[in-house]
Amino acid sequence: ESTTVVVIGAGPAGLTVANLLRRCGVDCVVLERGSRAHVARRQRAGIVETRAVRMFESWGLADVVRGGPPHDGLLEFRIDGESRFVDDRDGSAGSGARLCPQQVLVENLTAAHLADGGDLRYEAADVSLHDLTGDRPTVRYRAADGTRHSISCDFVAGCDGEHGVTRTAVPEGVATVHTFDHGIGWLTVLADAPPPAHPLLAVSPEGFAAHFPRGPRSSRYYLQCPPDDDPGAWPDDRVWDALRTRLADPALVPGPITDRETFRLRGLVHEPMRHGQLFLVGDAAHILSPMGGKGMNLALHDADLFVRAVRDAVRGGDDTALRDYSRRCLRRVWSDQEFSHWLTRTVHEAGGDTDSGPFLRRLARARLDRLVTSPGARHAFAELMTGLDPARAE
Ligand code: FAD
Repeated sequence: ESTTVVVIGAGPAGLTVANLLRRCGVDCVVLERGSRAHVARRQRAGIVETRAVRMFESWGLADVVRGGPPHDGLLEFRIDGESRFVDDRDGSAGSGARLCPQQVLVENLTAAHLADGGDLRYEAADVSLHDLTGDRPTVRYRAADGTRHSISCDFVAGCDGEHGVTRTAVPEGVATVHTFDHGIGWLTVLADAPPPAHPLLAVSPEGFAAHFPRGPRSSRYYLQCPPDDDPGAWPDDRVWDALRTRLADPALVPGPITDRETFRLRGLVHEPMRHGQLFLVGDAAHILSPMGGKGMNLALHDADLFVRAVRDAVRGGDDTALRDYSRRCLRRVWSDQEFSHWLTRTVHEAGGDTDSGPFLRRLARARLDRLVTSPGARHAFAELMTGLDPARAE
């Protein structure tokens, strides 16, 4: 069997690559380890940034981000119970960010790809990559019925996330993995409870908390906790009590909790994002602290650059953009890592529950004060939130 691109993974990165390749008439096969139901259940990101909304529009795929109302642009910072609002729009003409939970985007992209005649294979086990530095790499896997398959291709798109196989196919010594651990844990909870009017970030002496909309009757909450804390240490009452205190909202309406997990806040970048004919896209190449909401949006950006580069190579015989893929992606990756790092440090150090001490706490509070009072600081923040920073425009 043979195709032009084998895409490993059917999350936001892989499905975006697959849809855009179809739009350019380039063949691809998508191999996904999980079942369709498993993939559809992974609820994570909530907002598709302005740049990514316009990117889908430019490919004639505006409908894939329909699933929630437009994000009205206001973010609430609640600092010791006092509300301050920041507008994260940049005032440019055109569509803005959309509330579109990750699983809705994934389902919309899946439906669009299948309706377009796409080849999407679920429950593909034991995926392995061969001859990546030759002209025709091969991808092998075992199908759900136990049969073994081998597909030769021109390019492999490694879209299999943080725990995938494609990153590990790059030999040691060829790439560098840069990592940073904030030493901070988060408990995250999904609940069928009323969403806030605006995404809400709360700084308090008890630690950071956040409340984000995920649908008309669903919310995601975050609570700072010790790194590697056990989610079992957070029964429902403790979660709602902590949220009421940290959000300074005694009337917060609870609801059934549908998911509860803890994780460490950290950053990771795999450099370069290419090895031979393998191109890493999305979480396979980089992980960010969720602060700033950039992980999924970066995956969509990588996907767009990768497909345009493949189109140039396949249609026009021009591989300039393929050779430049890693450098161009990494420029945005590091900029978003910096934004995510800045916001993570700021909202945690400004609270009381860190070991950063009174000096750093006052610096963080000064940064927040500047953000909510200075038009220049707000503008810079809006550029980063929208993803439309002109210095990184393609
Ligand atoms: P994934 O979504 O991880 O998809 C990878 C796919 O590959 C999966 O379907 C997996 O089953 C498949 N796969 C894995 N291994 C194999 C294999 N060996 N063979 C075949 N298939 C394989 N981002 C934001 O932008 N905004 C947010 O608000 C936000 N909030 C987040 C909150 C949490 C709690 C977490 C954990 C993440 C959050 N993110 C957010 C990050 C976002 O979820 C990721 O950046 C996004 O999922 C990356 O998409 P991806 O397609 O690269 O990887």
